[in-house]
Amino acid sequence: MAYQAEYIWIDGTEPTPLLRSKTKILADDVTTPPVWGFDGSSTNQAPGDKSDCALQPVFTCPDPIRGGDNILVLCEVMLAQSNKPHPTNTRAACAKAAKKFAAEEMIFGIEQEYTMMRLDGSPLGFPKDGFPEPQGPYYCGVGAGRVVGREIIEEHTQACLDAGLLIEGTNAEVMPGQWEFQIGAADALTVSDHLTVARWLLHRIAEDYDVVISLAAKPQKGDWNGAGAHTNFSTKAMRNDKDMKAITAACNAIGKKVMEHVTNYGHDIESRLTGKHETAPWNKFSYGVSNRGASIRIPWQVEKTGRGYAEDRRPNANMDPYTVTRLLIETVCG
Ligand code: ADP
Ligand code: MN
Ligand code: MN
Ligand code: MN
Repeated sequence: MAYQAEYIWIDGTEPTPLLRSKTKILADDVTTPPVWGFDGSSTNQAPGDKSDCALQPVFTCPDPIRGGDNILVLCEVMLAQSNKPHPTNTRAACAKAAKKFAAEEMIFGIEQEYTMMRLDGSPLGFPKDGFPEPQGPYYCGVGAGRVVGREIIEEHTQACLDAGLLIEGTNAEVMPGQWEFQIGAADALTVSDHLTVARWLLHRIAEDYDVVISLAAKPQKGDWNGAGAHTNFSTKAMRNDKDMKAITAACNAIGKKVMEHVTNYGHDIESRLTGKHETAPWNKFSYGVSNRGASIRIPWQVEKTGRGYAEDRRPNANMDPYTVTRLLIETVCG
């Protein structure tokens, strides 16, 4: 029987791109989703008189929402004329860097935080007027009044599993309405592809509840935590280390390129990385064992054994995983 393929791509919206998707019906004898196209003038990816952009399938998985034989098809956006990567296509550059430094076997785990919002723009769990009780009981909380939106998390986690994505866990976050899921650990392209599809599934599932998923870095001003995407990374050398040498060298290399990283870690990073709310100031680089107020945290188990991984705590929830992993590859391996 004919089946449905949901083609997903990243658009050209500024300052933070959005996800887009549309459905193609494939005949039952079609086993590989073909190249497709869309109107780039409606996604900030092309002028009206040269509006065609191409969708190049790069990652396919079962569609956990429609079920059956239906699939999700993540695509790179290509220029229709030349078949070169579109300027908004950051995956192509990530693929290049990953290939160049493949021998270092760098892998990543990304902690995606996000905030559930009502259609009027207020965070779920905030009273209609005013504020909830200050932060404290909400992180990993249980019970009404402490946790909201759990039905969406449950549905999303199962959907990621059904799709075969590398989801590792979930938790309620420090601010009411804020949650996290983790994807990894895997090479840069795999973790970024899985994260992108997991984000799409989250938006899609929350749609049924009239809940907006915000990846804004600081969705609520004041004494409320922002939303990040801590990016954990390791090279083969870091994993096989004995004395933290490779891990220290990686941190020092990243410390030499502070601005290059921070300016590419997502819109409005200055509002989130203030030095408060478990962050380090965006323009001051530091690293340390167990330190959640440092730019890069080295987990205590890693110091104990002298080997493992490090956590770059600076990327925003709205970061582009292809760009963040590419920069870490280039800086740490380069
Ligand atoms: P925390 O909330 O304490 O910062 P999490 O449990 O949310 O930590 O996330 C830990 C992340 O570290 C996971 O995404 C996991 O994939 C990642 N990770 C674990 N080991 C490695 C490793 N060797 N290399 C890269 N990432 C790793
Ligand atoms: Mn976490
Ligand atoms: Mn978190
Ligand atoms: Mn973390």
